[in-house]
Amino acid sequence: MRTVILWFRRDLRLSDHPALAAALAEQARIVPLFVFDPHLLQHPETGSGRVQFMLGCLESLRKNLGVLGSRLICRLGDQSLVVPAFAQEVGAAAVYWNVDSERAWRTATDGRVADTLQQRGIEARTFEAEALLTAGGPETYTLKYFIPHWHRVLSLRSSPRPTVLPPVDEQIIDTPLRTLADLGLPPCDQMVPTAGEREAHQLLEEFLQEKAAHYLKSLSVAEDATCYTSRLGPHLKFGTISMRTVYQRVQARSQQVDSWQRRNLAGFQSRLFWRDHFAQKLRNLPRCEHESYLQDFDAVPWSNRADHYAAWCTGQTGYPLVDAAMRCLNHTGWLPFRLRALCATFHCIDLLLPWQGGARHFMQKLIDADVAVDHWQWQSHAGVSNRGRNWFRVYNPVDGVAKIDPAGTFIRRWVPELTGVSREQLAAPWRHGIAYLPPLVDHAEARARALALLEPIKRRYAPTDMLDAQ
Ligand SMILES: Cc1cc2nc3c(=O)[nH]c(=O)nc-3n(C[C@H](O)[C@H](O)[C@H](O)COP(=O)(O)OP(=O)(O)OC[C@H]3O[C@@H](n4cnc5c(N)ncnc54)[C@H](O)[C@@H]3O)c2cc1C
Repeated sequence: MRTVILWFRRDLRLSDHPALAAALAEQARIVPLFVFDPHLLQHPETGSGRVQFMLGCLESLRKNLGVLGSRLICRLGDQSLVVPAFAQEVGAAAVYWNVDSERAWRTATDGRVADTLQQRGIEARTFEAEALLTAGGPETYTLKYFIPHWHRVLSLRSSPRPTVLPPVDEQIIDTPLRTLADLGLPPCDQMVPTAGEREAHQLLEEFLQEKAAHYLKSLSVAEDATCYTSRLGPHLKFGTISMRTVYQRVQARSQQVDSWQRRNLAGFQSRLFWRDHFAQKLRNLPRCEHESYLQDFDAVPWSNRADHYAAWCTGQTGYPLVDAAMRCLNHTGWLPFRLRALCATFHCIDLLLPWQGGARHFMQKLIDADVAVDHWQWQSHAGVSNRGRNWFRVYNPVDGVAKIDPAGTFIRRWVPELTGVSREQLAAPWRHGIAYLPPLVDHAEARARALALLEPIKRRYAPTDMLDAQ
């Protein structure tokens, strides 16, 4: 019986886990490992809220492994050194892991881990746990190819959840790394959702049974979206549930409900699709973690107003809807899509700040932050990646209130300075002589200034291509 290290990363589950299924199939002695790498812990886009959620997922994984007779071993250090050293320490014949291409750093470091293992005669075997293709030419990300691939892979049978696992040798020491302080991170001041595999499955069922019927109608209204979207983002990010499981449950539920609910489920599934398509695009174009897809936009004389950036980050722009959204994000680690989009266009178009800074703040604060979705969405809202019809979709932070927060409850909750202000006066208090922060910029003027700068660059590019289809 050979020893196989099962290296967990962003796949913190036991169900539908290809690397685990392979190790079980060969009846290996499995040693589950998780490595906290300082590169990711100290990354400027890392926030304590998300790490706290990840710690919760690890705790749940630890318990689930324990129930099946196994044990999670945690280590702290440079993964390219820790994994090969651990493999030697436990006399492993192989290390198995699922591919994670969220960051170029991970892809490069995984390559180094594999090389070192192989040099030491230890097998390094990787598995694809997501419905993604190996990075290659356009056939790996254009919609014509990616759509059928996505449906085909997600329709395949899931790997079964084990009912028992081999024990881990008592001599192997698990480093006690359970809290943010253990990892040298500042305390978390956000509301962190319940973590773990069971919670992910419960959220999915709750969504399918109780929320899905309201899904599409709720998306543009702040308070409704908060109630009726699935909240699966952090779980998909850390892999406490596989996309295949979600997809197959959505398909099964679609067979049981009326046409209205089926439409809602189709809308939900299309968003799951975009998530994976963004991941595929980033896998193919890893430079877009930092650079604009349409590179000429990186040479735009973006504003460097640190005071504007600080006001945006802290919800002090003078536009109540933007301020409420930013304060909600900072406090809860979550925002509905429409408000993420509004805050992004306010940052990039109204304030003319480069998308990378806004994305960094979102990454620090969102519990569900995922580089692929976040950075492509930021690029899209900054207008630096689209060539499609909605090149610059600029949200109006005053007129938008009527649709996004019609009763004003969201603004009043997050901007207590405006609690007593009427619905009609909430969107633009300065027009009614109400004492609130003065707006940082005039929206109409700022929009015109930004588009005058950005439109000529847009004209340099061909109108559209398959890559930008969203
Ligand atoms: C500027 C900006 C930044 C964003 N950053 C992130 C991010 O870091 N991580 C993230 O998961 N989503 C991000 N989104 C997309 C979207 O806002 C969130 O996925 C959604 O609000 C999360 O809530 P939910 O989990 O209840 O999603 P649901 O609406 O229930 O959708 C289920 C899942 O589908 C995916 N999804 C939903 N909407 C989108 C979308 N428009 N594009 C791609 N995937 C989608 C997510 O994985 C989500 O968890 C961003 C959007 C914008 C405009």
